[in-house]
Amino acid sequence: MDRTLAADLDRLPELLDATRRAAVDALATLDARPVVPTAPTPTPLGPEPHPEPVPEPLPERASGAVAALAAFQDRWAPRLSASAGPRYLGFVTGGATPAALAGDWLTAVHDQNSNSSLDGGGQDLERETVGWLRELFGLSTAHAGTFVSGATMSNTTGLAIAREWLGERLGVSPSEDGAAALGPVRVLSGAPHSSIAKALSVLGLGRAALVPVPTLPGREAVDPAALDRALADAPGPAVVVANAGTVNTVDFDDLPAIAALRPRHDFWLHTDAAFGAFAALSPDHAHLAAGLDASDSLCVDLHKWLNVPYDSAVQFTRRRDLQARVFQNSAAYLGPLGDQPDLVHLTPENSHRLRALAVWFTLRAYGRQGHREIVERDIACARDLGDRLSADPAFRLLAPVRLNVVCFTLAAGPSPDRLAALARAASAEVFVTPTRYGGTPALRAAFSNWRTTHADVRRAAEALRRAARETA
Ligand SMILES: *Cc1c(COP(=O)(O)O)cnc(C)c1O
Repeated sequence: MDRTLAADLDRLPELLDATRRAAVDALATLDARPVVPTAPTPTPLGPEPHPEPVPEPLPERASGAVAALAAFQDRWAPRLSASAGPRYLGFVTGGATPAALAGDWLTAVHDQNSNSSLDGGGQDLERETVGWLRELFGLSTAHAGTFVSGATMSNTTGLAIAREWLGERLGVSPSEDGAAALGPVRVLSGAPHSSIAKALSVLGLGRAALVPVPTLPGREAVDPAALDRALADAPGPAVVVANAGTVNTVDFDDLPAIAALRPRHDFWLHTDAAFGAFAALSPDHAHLAAGLDASDSLCVDLHKWLNVPYDSAVQFTRRRDLQARVFQNSAAYLGPLGDQPDLVHLTPENSHRLRALAVWFTLRAYGRQGHREIVERDIACARDLGDRLSADPAFRLLAPVRLNVVCFTLAAGPSPDRLAALARAASAEVFVTPTRYGGTPALRAAFSNWRTTHADVRRAAEALRRAARETA
């Protein structure tokens, strides 16, 4: 063994302690560090800006883990954002609960490749955890679930199963004969997330398969009557992508109304509930997510509102038989699929880390009540920011705060450049991301971190107000 590697093995406890100290320090300063560090801009009188880091060459000789830790702390840690913290409101970003973090550390410690019953402990833990998630979101046991890396992969997996279902209806098998065997495919949706088009590209169905369906006036929710007409427009089976929580305004399709179209039309119902599924945890908002169970396939992200570290999501489906037809990875040493196929046969991944462990930890530690509290506090914080911005003449909300996102713009002159400057000026205190809603350039603040409190909302509102003045 290399001498430095052997020395690291001897000093593993000290090394883990040093790493723990670095972790504690990073977490203790989450609140004080800039939410997103900005590269200093050169000014005629100011100091010379830090140069962009020049990539270092591959180290030739061993210097050990302590030296690597020091180099990381010096060169890279200061460049990383406080995205685990309470005022990173860009995209839809979760943090990591204490238990989830502990679970994630132990995931690397045990370093399982949880995909086969030949060494089944990991996949048994995954199955127990999927069962908990099913209960959390009010799904029936007709839904089988598997872990994937994120909602994009969950949508892709769900639509791959939909593709196989289309084949079943048409008497062909896309997984055997290729997507071309299906002929033209129609995927109908009101306001789909961008990852749906990406999934269709990956699956060989093509981005052009996406048929936009009109939404209700002033809404991002699909118009069920328009969907009814669009389904009637072309004969043959189709795929409907329902959206349960859009990223701009967190609008929800009327899932029961969509499911009610089933007797008259032949379609697979895929629901993208990446973060909207968490409405089910709040009795006041659960009606938004009512009807998730009717989906044939369902996407829920876990690295967003469950607050487990990246990367983690779950894919549910009622047709595990079709799922195994698409993703089976048959080989002599893997054996037949059986009733309960090994995880290697159920997703695009073969090897994968024991992603379930962080989820298991946070659900075991805080339960339904603990996670309900996070969801309800985030919703209350979003409302609070919405109220503060709508009371300020500089700002204007573009949609009511339905759940956990505030979609807002400047009352006067909201150009994309101006909004980008505003967001940049505020980014040490609060990170928000740009969008366009109903043709208007806008900003979004999304609340899905377990640490966020009303004190953070006050800081965020103040920072946005100041940035609006400074960039006017
Ligand atoms: C975030 C999101 C996705 C994509 O999720 P990733 O985890 O980034 O792959 C898909 N759909 C919706 C509604 C989302 O919010």
